[in-house]
Amino acid sequence: MTASDPVLKQRVAILGSTGSIGVNTLDVIAMHPERFEVFGLSAATQVESMLQQCVRFKPVFAVMASEAHGRVLEQKCRDLHLATRVLWGAQAITALACDERVDAVMAAIVGAAGLASCLAAARAGKRLLLANKEALVVGGDYFMQAVGQGRAKLLPIDSEHSAIFQSLPADAATWPAQIDKIILTASGGPFRQRDPLTLRDVTPQQACAHPNWVMGRKISVDSASMMNKALEVIEARFLFDVRPEQIEVVIHPQSVIHSMVQYRDNSVVAQLGTADMKVPIAYGLSWPDRMTSGAAALDFRAMGAMTFEALDSNGHGQRFPGLKLAWDVLRGPSGSTAVLNAANEVAVAAFLDGQVRFDQIHAVNTETLASVVPAQVGSLEDLLALDAQSREAAQRVVRRFGAP
Ligand code: NDP
Repeated sequence: MTASDPVLKQRVAILGSTGSIGVNTLDVIAMHPERFEVFGLSAATQVESMLQQCVRFKPVFAVMASEAHGRVLEQKCRDLHLATRVLWGAQAITALACDERVDAVMAAIVGAAGLASCLAAARAGKRLLLANKEALVVGGDYFMQAVGQGRAKLLPIDSEHSAIFQSLPADAATWPAQIDKIILTASGGPFRQRDPLTLRDVTPQQACAHPNWVMGRKISVDSASMMNKALEVIEARFLFDVRPEQIEVVIHPQSVIHSMVQYRDNSVVAQLGTADMKVPIAYGLSWPDRMTSGAAALDFRAMGAMTFEALDSNGHGQRFPGLKLAWDVLRGPSGSTAVLNAANEVAVAAFLDGQVRFDQIHAVNTETLASVVPAQVGSLEDLLALDAQSREAAQRVVRRFGAP
């Protein structure tokens, strides 16, 4: 092939295009107009950002989660004579995810709200770029079966899982015989050194101020409580088909090593980079090739020391009690991961809304887990029912905490 040969462009649908991952994805795509075409975008509430994205990227479809936001966007697009077709509703988002003209789907909706569209993209055999970790935590084995049945290519976007993916051999069939363990790194978030007894006073603003990463509010709170790491442990279990006890977490405050794989011979392979989500996004889009991401390069000469801390040192166990729940639910009945995710989504929303304290997030999670016994999961409807049942249980706990 020569440089002048025409290259087929990948048509990309970005679900959650107005969020932190969505915007970064569009920035990466904008650097490579010869390789990618934005086929469709979806968002929930940010009509103005979506309009600007439509002006800039001229997608065929723009989908808003609700009719009210969809109608406003539709009128604005009409006023600007844009050819983009505006749709609305969860079903329209799912239809975009499995549209036969789409090659790659960036799943960047936050929370279990992204589950149906992820499953649709998986079943339709798309290149599925998975940022929406909650969808995999809820779907678990059922999600991975959909990926297998649809012969989708699942590429992790979470920086830790992208790092592991990059550190593993290309042939997944060889992993079980070669891998000893997966080591997820964790920055420790904004409260790594905070006295655990003062966590009750944390404000949403403090929880959302991550020292290394700029992210959406839900994942920022999860990072502060380390529930994000718990979700990542669960995500790693399903993505890489390892046993829960093969996953370890180590605190690495500088976020330079994004995660590592320890092999049977005790050789460790790691992936390093600056803390910029454009790197894993570019890798997911270009895999198995590499392309420029727009992220700064690491400067080893300017870089300070890389340090590591055990989870049980310096009161981390007390500070981050939620992390342990990952292994508990992975060893529990199937569906427990969905219960934990629903409880945590409710707890985080309640914290951001001033209804519960930061240190009560963990209590909402544990009490919900204790009160919901997951039934067998065999369909998306089963999962959605379990999610709804768990949310109701979590809301009851929140109301009790919020009561005077
Ligand atoms: P944001 O909150 O910044 O963005 C979320 C996106 O989802 C927005 O476009 C939002 O629309 C849309 N959305 C929210 N609710 C719904 C809904 N009910 N239906 C349809 N769309 C909805 O989140 P992030 O970009 O930070 O995170 C997205 C996902 O990626 C999460 O699962 C997160 O855990 C994961 N992730 C994020 C990282 C990061 O650096 N940000 C790193 C690794 C993983 P609108 O804004 O218009 O309301």
